[in-house]
Amino acid sequence: MPSSYFVDHIPVNTAHNRRPGLYLAPEYITIHSTGNPSSTARNERAWLTNPVNNRTASWHICVDEKEAIEAIPLNETAWHAGDGAGPGNRKSMAIEICESGDREKTLAHAAALVAGLLQARDWDVGRLRRHFDWSGKACPRIFMDNNWAGWETFKGSVQTKLKARLKGGAEMYAANSPRPALPQIQRRVEGTIDGRPADFEAYLIDNVTYVPLRPLVEDLKIRLEWKADKFHIHTAQ
Ligand SMILES: [Zn+2]
Repeated sequence: MPSSYFVDHIPVNTAHNRRPGLYLAPEYITIHSTGNPSSTARNERAWLTNPVNNRTASWHICVDEKEAIEAIPLNETAWHAGDGAGPGNRKSMAIEICESGDREKTLAHAAALVAGLLQARDWDVGRLRRHFDWSGKACPRIFMDNNWAGWETFKGSVQTKLKARLKGGAEMYAANSPRPALPQIQRRVEGTIDGRPADFEAYLIDNVTYVPLRPLVEDLKIRLEWKADKFHIHTAQ
């Protein structure tokens, strides 16, 4: 099954606070459908940065019959659950399923995506929620008929794909599955600053070493201050 996963994050300063930059440690995956029978994942992504859009609403991954697009990092909050600062928004990541195109293909694609996300976190389908579960909204509406029969079918399909993956039969998203929220390789780097010995906890990601800001500036004897999510470094002694 051909598939693509694209990362195309909206800017941090996107209007109407659509990417608030709040840290998210997800415990659930919330499923939505777009409510628009003609828009694709690319259309949905474009809407998030369309100047005409005045809503504070966003999502993490949108999936259609062809591809999946990640618009907000999976360790940052998106506004999608309608429950304010509740667990829908603050403890779950949002998957939007497109209502355009071939429904069967789209749902197979979405189920494979969700199975991959569950497997990467060692989760099972008990982690899945509907938008409806958080705020009573009629969403994902594509699953509502016959007392949510389609929702049960979808969860069953995710379960089947998850089992297949766990058996080593991973069919998609193996090579390009989303990165885990936190870097996997942590190490200590040692060296000198102006000849003085120094060492830091560091992350190695794609062969680049990342060091947390605070211990570095403290060692440099400069002062770091966080105000309203912005850093301020003071070098005057
Ligand atoms: Zn929804």
